Amino acid sequence: MPAKKSLVRLAADTARRVPPESTQQRAIARAAAFGSADWRRLLQTLGEDPTRQGLIETPERMTRAWQHWTRGYGQDPAAILKTFSDGSERYNELIVVRRIPVYSHCEHHLAPFFGHAAIGYLPAGRIVGLSKLKRLVDCFAARLQVQERLTQQIAQTLLEELEPKAVGVVMRCRHLCMESRGISVPGEETVTSAMLGQLEKSAPLRTEFLSLTRPD
Ligand SMILES: [Zn+2]
Repeated sequence: MPAKKSLVRLAADTARRVPPESTQQRAIARAAAFGSADWRRLLQTLGEDPTRQGLIETPERMTRAWQHWTRGYGQDPAAILKTFSDGSERYNELIVVRRIPVYSHCEHHLAPFFGHAAIGYLPAGRIVGLSKLKRLVDCFAARLQVQERLTQQIAQTLLEELEPKAVGVVMRCRHLCMESRGISVPGEETVTSAMLGQLEKSAPLRTEFLSLTRPD
């Protein structure tokens, strides 16, 4: 399916890079930045009194919280994946890390979705520290996302930066925008996966990967 593959690659390429910024663009972004006054206006629009005790510091808290939840825009995924090759040349088995926490926000409602990811790869001489995989997930999750793209971006970046023989990502998340509105059953997980390299073609490898990433 070459057409599908190139589309996925294009989407991953355009979304994963840190947006280019000129001085002028930064100035525009600062001038247009959504700040405390805007959060107060939102509270008023919702029917609240932004001057009551419990809400006085909410605008500043929200500004800081959203800076944290979207910190991934300022991070370069390629820089996170510093690789090393000591002793991994002869390692010819799948490396799988399970239950990597995922905290993100859906781009349709700005509502949280959260769960965990399993990442596996078949190294071709280069391996990556396990904590780097967690940071890679964080870097993409701390942006506005859809779960499908988040899954693809993680897999695609690992394929490009690590050049393994195979890479697979399985992600299981609960979406509050769906659960709270009755679109999905409370606790229901949405499962997405991306399989690249030899995992695309080899059924036995895929079976092994899926058995290693199966939840308990
Ligand atoms: Zn949503």
